[in-house]
Amino acid sequence: MKDQIKRLVKLQTIEARISEITHRLDDVKKKLKELDKQFEFHEKKIEEDSAALEIKKKEYREYDVEIQTSQSMINKSQEKMKVVKTNREYRSMLKEIDELKLKISKTEEQMLDSLEQIDELEKGINDQKKDFMLIGEEIKAEKEKIQSQASMDNEKLVNLRQDWQGGCEGIEPDILKKFLKVNGKVFGAAIVPVNNAVCQGCHMNIPPQAYNEIQRCDSLKFCPHCDRIIYWQGNLSLETEN
Ligand SMILES: [Zn+2]
Repeated sequence: MKDQIKRLVKLQTIEARISEITHRLDDVKKKLKELDKQFEFHEKKIEEDSAALEIKKKEYREYDVEIQTSQSMINKSQEKMKVVKTNREYRSMLKEIDELKLKISKTEEQMLDSLEQIDELEKGINDQKKDFMLIGEEIKAEKEKIQSQASMDNEKLVNLRQDWQGGCEGIEPDILKKFLKVNGKVFGAAIVPVNNAVCQGCHMNIPPQAYNEIQRCDSLKFCPHCDRIIYWQGNLSLETEN
């Protein structure tokens, strides 16, 4: 039984390593996703601002057309004024021209505002593009680092799974079955030592009779509190020394 316990403990060590690396690989997926998100966020911001810039430029061109239209209406009115016959007509045309001039001056103000916004957006986009290049490089480097660590971990995992298979081979099927059952049920180690009558899995006291039984080590024993397989540390130390 001591030999079987020893093998189970070894299997447990492999299991712990597999679980540790599997968790790390799960984290890698999360980290990569997070980095992709960061990248997309910057990319999207530039796209949105570029779209806003196009709208502003279009607006600016429309103001320009409006001014030209008003200007040509003024020109026409001024031509007509040369041939008007009544004062009333003349005054109405002057009024019309004044209104058009006012409209032009308002549109010119709007154009200036537009121009300011266009400048601001263009500057912002340029800055963002510069940042994006740097951030993009950083993200790329970080991803490469993570991926190379992950590929090493995947290799380790392949080896550990082979070790696991090898480790299972020396264990009696019945014992292995019990170990796997406990392993599927408990959080953390399925086999734990008992030190000074305390289960190292749940830190509860093992009753004296059960404690005596595990020291005899003639069959597989379970913690009455947490159901983990338990063994007396002293037995394993002796076995190791041999
Ligand atoms: Zn326990």
